[in-house]
Order: sequence, then structure tokens, then C-alpha cells
Amino acid sequence: MTPSIDRNQELFDRARELIPGGVNSPVRAFRAVGGTPRFVQRAQGAYFWDANGQRYIDYIGSWGPMILGHGHPAVVEAVQQAVQDGFSFGAPTEREVQLAEAIVHLMPSLEMVRLVSSGTEAAMSAIRLARGATGRSRIVKFEGCYHGHADSLLVKAGSGLATFGHPTSAGVPAEVAQHTTVLPYNDIDQLEQAFGLYGSEIACLVIEPIAGNMNFVRASVPFMRRCRELCDQHGALLVFDEVMTGFRVALGGAQSIYGRQIPGFRPDLTVLGKVIGGGMPLAAFGGPRALMEQLAPLGPVYQAGTLSGNPIATACGLATLEQIAQPGFFDALAARTRSLVDGLSIVARSEGVEFSVDCEGGMFGFFLLSSLPQDYQTVMTSDSSRFNRLFHGLLERGVYIAPALYEAGFVSAAHTEDDIATTVEAAREVFATLRTG
Ligand code: PMP
Repeated sequence: MTPSIDRNQELFDRARELIPGGVNSPVRAFRAVGGTPRFVQRAQGAYFWDANGQRYIDYIGSWGPMILGHGHPAVVEAVQQAVQDGFSFGAPTEREVQLAEAIVHLMPSLEMVRLVSSGTEAAMSAIRLARGATGRSRIVKFEGCYHGHADSLLVKAGSGLATFGHPTSAGVPAEVAQHTTVLPYNDIDQLEQAFGLYGSEIACLVIEPIAGNMNFVRASVPFMRRCRELCDQHGALLVFDEVMTGFRVALGGAQSIYGRQIPGFRPDLTVLGKVIGGGMPLAAFGGPRALMEQLAPLGPVYQAGTLSGNPIATACGLATLEQIAQPGFFDALAARTRSLVDGLSIVARSEGVEFSVDCEGGMFGFFLLSSLPQDYQTVMTSDSSRFNRLFHGLLERGVYIAPALYEAGFVSAAHTEDDIATTVEAAREVFATLRTG
């Protein structure tokens, strides 16, 4: 029951006085969908409760980290124990070694890793390393992929391939943006042209292999193969941003999926975040020893952090990885996710709503479009007002999906078949109000 005073609204009003937009990260503000953001009071398993005490089935899971659901007992215990021993030392700890061992064991393309505190920091550092190691400045990225908010990554395409990238944010100097070339995702022709034009200048190509920042769009296997070949031909590094997909779409990340389809495939550098911290501020980047040894204190590429490898964050991350590495974990998670997306497809079809959906492991995306888009331009042809009605319809029914149509969704091991059935039934009711045509 909603109390007569709306505590979410009250908190949002107070927050907006003090915090720009009332939030500490823009997408939380419900700007795209309208309405009052829910202020979370607590969370457990597959649910969270807002400031009015209203419960929601949570399909964002802190935007990916909460793969075990909220408050998994083994993780809580590991964190509680770690807290007893101290919050931060600024000196190395055994758990950093253990976490590095766990990561390189699960992702064989990494021989060494460096721990940092956010995905932004990890991507920014990987790009500096790529530039330092190659002695080149240009980076190639793709429209619709997000790699955090470092200057050289907040760039959109210019009017043609031969023009410079433009900043997507005030405060990013044009002189920085001009070193970034932005290409359409899954477009082999433009990729070849870009390498034809700039090949010898390109330090790295950075890609979300399954792009979760334009909802859920896979890089096609031929496209990924071409990315790898062109990087090899031109001496550029292939950087996989697996902040979202790492330990989420499969135990070995998206690279293990492409590795099964492209013989010998591996990225040069990998950027990780989200799941490896289990909900704590922890991220990482890694790759072959020869590259990683270019980092300070061994090599000339500087990178550092007061809270890097934080002892509580590493305890949380290690306990999380230990759970997801249990035999059968990903099969069960993938089956649960599959049952959600199949259920949604069935009710969309029966209610006559154009709908397409895809998933991998514990990550999914759906579009109010008749077929799955392959690039950002097509994703953005989705009708946002219909998406917004769907979002609010689900929210009223206690189902919390991402408050923007270009964001992926996440299922955790704590979601039950009952939760899925409740979600699908709620979607059926909302789809009935959205009938296409
Ligand atoms: N890369 C990807 C693929 C991401 O999804 C995100 C965050 N959503 C980032 C990088 C940045 O991570 P953070 O928000 O931890 O800085």
C-alpha cells in the first residue's frame, strides 16, 4: 500500500536541492521515462523496496553487478568478515592476489590484471595502455557503445568517415575528440574504410562485444572476425569492454562465446567491472604479460589509485566469483533468463505487440520492434513513448526494468519461476494497452 505521503517524491525534492538532478548518475533520474525515481530503502534476493515500502522485482540489479541477487548470505558474510579487518590500507593484500588469480583463471586471455574502482577508470586506463604500448593516438569506437565517461570516449561520429569525432559532452576538448573515430556497429564496410584511411594511426579498437548500452545488440561473428583481422593487420589492439558482459553472459565472458565461433579468437585487452565487484566499487583491466608490464611501476604508462583493490570490495568480488563458478550456475541462470524472454515474447505476440528479444546468460534486451536491431540508428527508431508506457505499466505492477529503452536487463540467480510468471503476467496486462496498429 502506498502511504499518503509519497516518500520517494519527498526525497527526490530534497535531493534536487543538493545533488544535480537529484541523482549521482544521470539515468537514475527517470528523465527519459518521466515520473519520480524510486529511492531504494533495502533489497533482498530478487527484490528491492522503495521509500514507500513498495516492493519491486528488480531487473537492473545495480546495472549488472548483482548476479546472485541482493544480500547473498556467502557474500554478506565475506564482507562482514573483511570489515572487521580494516577498510583500506594503501598497501597490498592477499585478497588482491586471490582475485587476480580467479580472474586470470576464468578468462584465459588475461595473464595479468590491474584492479581499479570503476568501469570508467578501467576503460580509460586500458586505452592509455594501448596508446602507450603502440605509440599511437587514434582510437576507434562504435556508436551506441558506452565505455564510461573518460574524455576520449564521450565522442560521436562526425558527418563522414574522414571528419573528426565530435564531443558528446561539454567540457571535452575538440582536440581530444579528434583522436576518436566513431563507426556504426556491425558495419564491416565502414570498418574496412576506417582502417584503410587511418590504419597506421590506430592504437586500439574498443568494443562492447554484446552492446548493453544500446539495450542488447550482438556484434555479428563476421564483424568480430573482421575487427580481429584488421587490428592484427594494422598493429592495433583489440580492447573488449566486458564491464557488463564479463562473468554475466557466460563464466568466461563474451570472449568465450566468440572464442567458440572464431578459432583462436581472443582480445588483446579486456575491461571488467560490475560482477567482479559483486556490488562494491571494483573494476579491472588485463591482458598479456608483455602489455601489462608496460604499466607503472614496471613500465612507462602511469596508472594508480588510492582505493584500488580495496579490501572490502575484493572480499565481495571474490565471494561473488566463487558462487558463479559453481558447476551449473550459468546453465540455471541462462534457463531462467530464457524463460523470461520466451514468456514476454509469447504475451507480446498474443496481445499483438511488435516485439523482439534476445538474451545470453543472465543478460537480456527487448525492443518494441518486429526484428532485432543490429546498430544504434535502428535501436533509436523504437517508439520511446510506447516504451515509457510499458515501463510505467510494469512499475505500477511492481516490476522494475531499466528506465530507458537503450538499456539492457539483468536476471539474477535469486529470481524464481514465480517472479518470472508474475513479470510475464504484468507484461501481458500492459501489452494489452499497447497493441500495435
Ligand atoms: N563500460 C561498459 C560496457 C559499461 O556498461 C559501463 C557502465 N554501465 C562502463 C564501462 C562504465 O562503468 P562505471 O559506471 O563503473 O564507471
